[in-house]
Amino acid sequence: SGFTGQTMRVGTAHSNHTPPLLVSRLFQPSNLREMKESGLEGRSGEMTCRSQKLMLKGGLIYPSNPGCYYYLPAMVRSMEKLVRLIDQEMQGIGGQKLDMPSLCSAELWQRSERWDLMGKELFRLRDRHGAEYCLGPTHEEAVTELLASQGTLSYRQLPLLLYQVTRKFRDEPKPRFGLLRGREFYMKDMYSFDASEEAALITYQAVCQAYNRLFSRLGLHCVQVQADTGNIGGRLSHEFQLLADIGEDRLMVCGNCAFSANAETMKPGQTDCPQCHWGTLTESKGIEVGHTFYLGTKYSHIFDAMYNNSQNKPVVAEMGCFGLGVTRILAAAIEVLSSEDAICWPSLLAPYQVCVLPPKSGSKTAELAGVAEELCHSLGESLQSLKGEVVLDDRTQLTIGKRLKGAIRLGYPYVIVVGKSAADEQPQFEVLCQQSGETLFLSREGLMDLL
Ligand code: ATP
Ligand code: MG
Ligand code: MG
Ligand code: MG
Repeated sequence: SGFTGQTMRVGTAHSNHTPPLLVSRLFQPSNLREMKESGLEGRSGEMTCRSQKLMLKGGLIYPSNPGCYYYLPAMVRSMEKLVRLIDQEMQGIGGQKLDMPSLCSAELWQRSERWDLMGKELFRLRDRHGAEYCLGPTHEEAVTELLASQGTLSYRQLPLLLYQVTRKFRDEPKPRFGLLRGREFYMKDMYSFDASEEAALITYQAVCQAYNRLFSRLGLHCVQVQADTGNIGGRLSHEFQLLADIGEDRLMVCGNCAFSANAETMKPGQTDCPQCHWGTLTESKGIEVGHTFYLGTKYSHIFDAMYNNSQNKPVVAEMGCFGLGVTRILAAAIEVLSSEDAICWPSLLAPYQVCVLPPKSGSKTAELAGVAEELCHSLGESLQSLKGEVVLDDRTQLTIGKRLKGAIRLGYPYVIVVGKSAADEQPQFEVLCQQSGETLFLSREGLMDLL
């Protein structure tokens, strides 16, 4: 379990301060051996990829049943950070956040004919009256029906961009690779309504740009490829892919021009570029983290989502839909950035930014425990960005080396060791910076500058 026996006493020397976050108190269960013995690994499919192993070992997730996980507190912190960034980007292009029901009536899905088309992937259930429902795997039907039920919009209200971040349910044939392919997962799905094809394509480009901005803020190299529209329907589509060997998509990228596509969209064996007819295509594997669709009037036509144009004539709205795999992005980021035994987060998404290690209890420098505690406090107080982001590894019955190893494995962007040089007249702290891999010896002022 994540609980350990003996812990350091804190909150005495500075009792007027809010006590620091203590590692000994964090619920971050990570006893992998126990998990193996109890067969829990098997419950979630084979532990076949790096992100799944690291997330299980790091106490970020815990398997429940195939393709379903408990998201543990550190994971939730990271997810909330990602959602905040997504909110910024979506609201930056005019998106308005809403939240739609997960229980979706069969009738809605029958009108779009996807009740049958979705086949076994749809989780279906009945209520006490015998009415049929599915657990929403996506929400084109729901959002379009919502809009249509409000009566005819005015062209002045367009473009209208509505999005949500909610759990989606899909009975995947092969749930696997941890959060990369779950049966219950978080998705950001945005739906756009526009007055014309031209306007819808402008919205489409704006969303693609926002996606690219998001991935570059995360420090993730994302490839935007032409894609199939699948059973969502529509005419134009792109996927946002992170290159990784365990990726389940095959991508073809031209060495000469900007052409790139999911191999599904191409003739098998085509190796010359269909765009420049000169470059050769190289194949790589990718993890699909986002997908954009220009839908045209497919759903608005079925559900009568209309707007009045400037001549006050009712016209069917043009739509787009835009998905981001929230939990998949977290796993995929860990997958592509981390080493075999240490998590590396996009720094904006690390659950905590800083871990402070006080000396082992009973050691010569044990009296520095107070310095460590005070350091935690002053970092959180003097740097707004670090408020609530600093943890104190108070498990001082363990050696510094052992705790340091654990901290490195969890991927804190900064680990500060309060060792014997912190007792010097001009105290120095040892700082491990994960991004650069450097270890620095810094004064308190140096630390503040760095962080
Ligand atoms: P895949 O091809 O991997 O099955 P999809 O094309 O079925 O994904 P979309 O319908 O395009 O998925 O959904 C939008 C986004 O939701 C995807 O780009 C992906 O990031 C995420 N997503 C889809 N299925 C899952 C899943 N089973 N687990 C986690 N995330 C998923
Ligand atoms: Mg799928
Ligand atoms: Mg796909
Ligand atoms: Mg897709």
